[in-house]
Amino acid sequence: MREKLSRLVGGHAPSLIREMFQRAAAYEDVISLGIGDPDFDTPEPICRAALADALAGHTHYTQSQGDPELLTALAANLNQRQKLACAPQDLVITFGGMGALAAAFRALLDDGDEVIIPEPFFPDYTSHVEFSGGVCVFSPTRIENGFAPEPEAIAAAITPRTKVLLINTPCNPTGAVIPGPTLDALAELAIRRDLVVISDEVYDRLTFGVAHQSIRDRPGMAERTLVIGSFSKNFAMTGWRIGWALGPRWLVEAILNVTTHNTSCPNSVSQRAAIAALAQPEATWEAMRREFAARCRLVHERLAAMPGVTVAPPQGSFYLFPRIAQIGGDGRRFALELLDRAQVVVVPGEAFGPSGVGCVRLACTVGLERLAQAMDRLERFLTTYRA
Ligand code: PLP
Repeated sequence: MREKLSRLVGGHAPSLIREMFQRAAAYEDVISLGIGDPDFDTPEPICRAALADALAGHTHYTQSQGDPELLTALAANLNQRQKLACAPQDLVITFGGMGALAAAFRALLDDGDEVIIPEPFFPDYTSHVEFSGGVCVFSPTRIENGFAPEPEAIAAAITPRTKVLLINTPCNPTGAVIPGPTLDALAELAIRRDLVVISDEVYDRLTFGVAHQSIRDRPGMAERTLVIGSFSKNFAMTGWRIGWALGPRWLVEAILNVTTHNTSCPNSVSQRAAIAALAQPEATWEAMRREFAARCRLVHERLAAMPGVTVAPPQGSFYLFPRIAQIGGDGRRFALELLDRAQVVVVPGEAFGPSGVGCVRLACTVGLERLAQAMDRLERFLTTYRA
C-alpha cells in the first residue's frame, strides 16, 4: 500500500537523530547529548499560572492569530530587544517554531520554487520545504570560517526560481552566530535579488559573549523578513509547543490563513503559560543562559584538548559541532561505536548536510557533572578508536 503515499511525503527517510535515539534505548547508563531538548523543567510559577488559568476557564479556542494578551505581551517583549518596532498585528502565534516554519513555506512556495539554505542545517527544514512543493538548494559553510553563511556562495546559488533565503542564528547544529557584517551582506543581497528571508532565531536569547542580531533590523529588510521565534529553548518550554512568526503584514496574513485552517488556533493553556513566561524576572532566563554558556565552555575546552579533534568556540544555542574526520571514519561510524563502547549519544554530522560529514553534534542538555563524565568517556574511547 506504500505506493498510495504522496510523492512529497512518502520519500522522506526517518532522521539520523531519531535513529540514534532509538538505538540508545538498548543500552544502560547512557549519557545522551543527542536531542536538543533542555534538561531544565519549565519553572514552577509558569506551570502554576497555566493551571490556574485553565481552572479559570481558559480552555476554549482562542483567536486564530493567538491569545490577544500573549500577542500584546510578546510584542512588548520583542520591542525591548529588536531595533525595529513590532506590533501585535505583525505576529502569529504557532505550534512551536516548527508550526511557524511549516506555515511560512506553505504560504510562500509554489511547485519548484527554490529555497537557499546554508548547511550544516536543522534537518526538519528539508521536510518543511519539500512538503510545500519547494526545492532545497544548499550552500556550504566551513568550520575554518566559524560556519558563517558565505554571501558569495549564496549569490552564486540564486536562480530565477529562488524565492527564499533561510538563515538560522544562533545555529543548530553548529552553535555559530552570524556576524553583523555577514548579515549586512545577506540583507543587501536579498534586497538586490528580491528574496524573502526567513530568519530562524529560536535560540536568540542563548548567545555567549556575542550579541544576537536580527537581519530584520537591517534597512529595508522588515518588509521581506519573517523571523521565527519560540518559547521552546529560551524558556525551557519545549513540550508546550508555542512559537511565533514575526513579519510584514502581507506575509503574516497569509501565514494566518494557513494556520487557521491547519489548527484553528494554538493550544490555549500553553498560550497562558507563555504569557506567564514573559512575566518572569529576566534573572530566571539569564541563569539558564549562563548555565548553557558554562556547559558549552567546558565541552569546548575538553574537545579542543583532544588530539585530532577540531572544534569552533561556542557562540550560541547549546550545540557544539566538532570535526573528528582526522581521527578516521565518518560521523555515523564514530557515533555508533561511541554509543556501543562508551554509551555516549552524539549525532553524526551528515544528518545536517554534506558539510557536516566527518563531524558530530553534541547537545549540552545535561548538567556539568554529567558532561564532564561524557568527555572522560569520549577521551578514553578516542584512544582505542584511533588504534
Ligand atoms: N528551528 C531550529 C533551528 C531548531 O533547532 C528547532 C528545534 O529543535 C526548531 C526550529 C523548532 O523548535 P520548536 O518547534 O520546539 O519551537
